[in-house]
Amino acid sequence: MMGQHDGRVVIITGAASGIGRAAVERIVAEGGSAVAVDLAAAALTWTSGHAHAERIVNVAGDIADEGTNTAAVAAAIERFGRLDACVLNAGIAMSGDLLSMPIDEVDRVLSINVKSVVLGIRAAVPSMSAGGAFAVTASTSGLAGDPNMWPYNTSKGAVVNLVRAAALDLGPRGIRINAICPGPTETGMTTRIKDVHEIYEGLRRRTALQRWGRAEEIAAVISFMVSSDASFVTGAAIPVDGGITASTGQFLPNERTY
Ligand code: NAD
Repeated sequence: MMGQHDGRVVIITGAASGIGRAAVERIVAEGGSAVAVDLAAAALTWTSGHAHAERIVNVAGDIADEGTNTAAVAAAIERFGRLDACVLNAGIAMSGDLLSMPIDEVDRVLSINVKSVVLGIRAAVPSMSAGGAFAVTASTSGLAGDPNMWPYNTSKGAVVNLVRAAALDLGPRGIRINAICPGPTETGMTTRIKDVHEIYEGLRRRTALQRWGRAEEIAAVISFMVSSDASFVTGAAIPVDGGITASTGQFLPNERTY
């Protein structure tokens, strides 16, 4: 059976956990090969037990370092002979007081959530041809603000507009780039929220669908974004958020009946 990514090679960052891991699994299930990137080699050992382990290569390193990004591209070319797409997904959450949070922390979130996207694009484009594509994981928190979350809001808002601007610069090469804006999704990043009932429930109640998302539901849209099915989609920021951003936020939707 033909898969959406047969013969294609995709780099995925943040591949040890959550959305990144689900994206590796989806792309490999659709016939593609994956370069799985994350901070620690030990966190990527799950790939060796995968049914298609021969189509996954791991790269350990910090995506905020240029060398990690060039190593990922080199791994794609050396192991699989080509590079078709990148899912620049790794990121960190950050909240803090606007007036007193240490400014080094702000540098850290901007470095990991924004600068690394630039490094990922720069490393990959010279090895990509027309038809290549990027999916960048932004957030609904890049489309509006959240209380006490200004560092994260700033970083994800920057990513959304970086993607728009990059689409204009990469489009003439036939390379596409889009941002995905997940709403509340059950992953490693949100494990702690799950333990705080009011926050978990508050986020659930703000979605139209009255539930949290699953990493696989985000990965499905990422897979589409970097496939040829999305060949005329570029510079877009697509919410995959159960309808959170459909609301003004003034009123809660009705409780679920399904
Ligand atoms: P996660 O914590 O489960 O996975 C993130 C992965 O990124 C981890 O494996 C982590 O080790 C890796 N990572 C972090 N910093 C890194 C670095 N400097 N270098 C290399 N790898 C690094 O979280 P997730 O929810 O799957 O997050 C993926 C993306 O989705 C992030 O960009 C996040 O901001 C975004 N997002 C998540 C949600 C949500 O509700 N989970 C909502 C909106 C956006």
